[in-house]
Amino acid sequence: MTAERPATQSPAGPDRSPAERRKILVVEDEPDILELVRVALEAEGFSVVAAGDGELGWVLARRERPAALVLDLMLPKLGGMELCKRIRGTRETAGIPVVMLTARGTETDKVVGLEMGADDYVTKPFSPRELAARVKAVLRRAYEAPAERPHEVYEKGPLRIDFDSWETRLDGRRIELSLREFELLKFFVTHPNRVFERGQLLDLVWGRDTFVEPRTVDVHIRRLRQRIERDGSMPELIVTVRGVGYMFDERGLGA
Ligand code: CA
Repeated sequence: MTAERPATQSPAGPDRSPAERRKILVVEDEPDILELVRVALEAEGFSVVAAGDGELGWVLARRERPAALVLDLMLPKLGGMELCKRIRGTRETAGIPVVMLTARGTETDKVVGLEMGADDYVTKPFSPRELAARVKAVLRRAYEAPAERPHEVYEKGPLRIDFDSWETRLDGRRIELSLREFELLKFFVTHPNRVFERGQLLDLVWGRDTFVEPRTVDVHIRRLRQRIERDGSMPELIVTVRGVGYMFDERGLGA
């Protein structure tokens, strides 16, 4: 699963004005493609705000409060991947759906793009109508009230996490977690078997604009382990990768 935005965020929801709900930020450095995207989106009743490089895209993503982003991968000043990572790592923009545009179409790029938090992906050359349809689809998902979509649940071995009701169970037993512990666990289970440095966890779970010491990550990991590990001193799920960081090891679930 790739939906990583905090459950409390409703990017295109009631806190957005009607005009903001129709506003799409397009970050694209090639004028011809930008024009193609603009025409396709305006034909569907959207208004388009454009940025020709990643740095301006980052400024406008925060200032303009767009309902969604169409983001080119190869951009001057700040690349699309990095911009997407920033958007996801910052609380005020984390919930904005992102459709990535790319000239490359290899499976690796797709996986990396989705891991960076893109909601969908369109490969150049694309049909303008298809792009508009993808934008409408990500907006629909972001607009829909939680009750209208199926509960998102992680379930593997003894661990069951309901991302909508924020409920965690281990062997059927309910585990009490703080908000941050829950967010950290959610991040781990949605990015299993990959090592993350403390700094990355701070950016991606705490948010880039918060100032906490890397040691805070260790404290939260220790608490999380006490709650979900069979033996908190011999972790099998959230393992330490010496000299690098932490990894959620799905093998520890025995599933
Ligand atoms: Ca480009």
